Amino acid sequence: MSLASSSAAGTYELDRAHVLHSWSAQAELDPMVVERAEGVHVWDGEGRCYLDFTSQLVNTNIGHQHPAVVQAIQSQAEQLCTISPACATEPRSRAARLIAERTPEGLDKVFFTNGGAEAVENAVRMARLHTGRHKVLSRYRSYHGATTTAINLTGDPRRWPNEQSGAGAVHFFGPHPYRSPFHSRDEGEECRRALEHLEQVIELEGPETVAALVLETVPGTAGIMPPPPGYLRGVRELCDRYGIVYIADEVMAGFGRTGAWFAVQHYDVAPDLIAFAKGVNSGYVPLGGVAVNEAIASTFDHRAYPGGLTYSGHPLACAAAVATITAMDEEGIVDNAATVGAEVLGPGLRELAERHPSIGDVRGLGVFWALELVTDRATKEPVAPYGGSSPVMKRLVAECAEAGLLIPTTYHRVHVVPPCTITAQQAREGLAVLDGALDTVDRTLAEQRG
Ligand code: PLP
Repeated sequence: MSLASSSAAGTYELDRAHVLHSWSAQAELDPMVVERAEGVHVWDGEGRCYLDFTSQLVNTNIGHQHPAVVQAIQSQAEQLCTISPACATEPRSRAARLIAERTPEGLDKVFFTNGGAEAVENAVRMARLHTGRHKVLSRYRSYHGATTTAINLTGDPRRWPNEQSGAGAVHFFGPHPYRSPFHSRDEGEECRRALEHLEQVIELEGPETVAALVLETVPGTAGIMPPPPGYLRGVRELCDRYGIVYIADEVMAGFGRTGAWFAVQHYDVAPDLIAFAKGVNSGYVPLGGVAVNEAIASTFDHRAYPGGLTYSGHPLACAAAVATITAMDEEGIVDNAATVGAEVLGPGLRELAERHPSIGDVRGLGVFWALELVTDRATKEPVAPYGGSSPVMKRLVAECAEAGLLIPTTYHRVHVVPPCTITAQQAREGLAVLDGALDTVDRTLAEQRG
């Protein structure tokens, strides 16, 4: 990497000398130095501006450096930076109320954490203590975080190197019409077969041993797969029938990403617990949590809840959440995500699929979309292997970056996940860059076919 500014060059050198990065082979890394960011844009160490279609791990739903959130953090820092979670503080009380007002009815208590994986850990812990059972069901093609319980529940290749201590994690197939594990002909059949399969898994595992079912409402990093109509209602019914706690993992899908405060609201279901993080304050200060219904919350009325960390419910993080949720309301940011998704991103991506034979599938909602890239639409062979990458995907990312667009890819998929604040015009600009990079993908695949 060549860097114009000497401070950026110094940052890069220090990073390479002393920082051990997450999820990476260190010798292969060439991290971008980021100097600043604002709204939907990020500037690198050379002063180049990028449109951010990544939202930085699908996190900055409100965009970068929102002035009201920055101001709220500053004001809170002047008053009270930190305090034991045993104390009651105004930002935590207000954040809890704002969150409870936006979750489905009945989830009125909030347990705060420092991020998403820890939210899943605590949701599972609550479910186990509430039911007295141990096993937890989760779907293949899912991600729940990198701490021990959460990574073992994860249903994608990131779990594999961590699997030594996965006691109690049981995986099932969720619906995936494009690559149906059930060989279904349509969404209705996929939904029915997925629910029959899930019930069989519950029966074969022994319902009296199953504490919880953890499900991303719209699986995110595993492929942004909105569930077919009726699936989540069916999951809710199965959980009720067998006394299993239904945990919705909305760490990625929550807080506006899908064009609703919580994705479950599109499907009219109320889980028992919702794990959240990211969009709750767009990651300005680390925060996550679990929204808890009365039945589970009351388990801990006269019995101590055995969990919590020193920084849980941190005042700066909660002040950022209050400002974020308030600004999202005042500026209509959740509605903006719904509108840009329905009017620009969805139609725009489907149009790209008409022009580019490498696009096998387009799916999503709100500002939460995925493309599957395939070598051949008939065979659906992915352009990169499950759990791996390929030169054609690396080239697509590099070509987009060269044209000023940051775009995330996972294996053979391209994800389109800009901040919820993106304008229609900015969304179109990003799609135009992607269009050009997909020309290269098509050309490369045609050359490979000979
Ligand atoms: N659950 C889901 C659905 C996620 O997408 C993620 C992270 O991307 C997590 C949990 C873990 O969150 P964190 O990285 O904040 O621990």
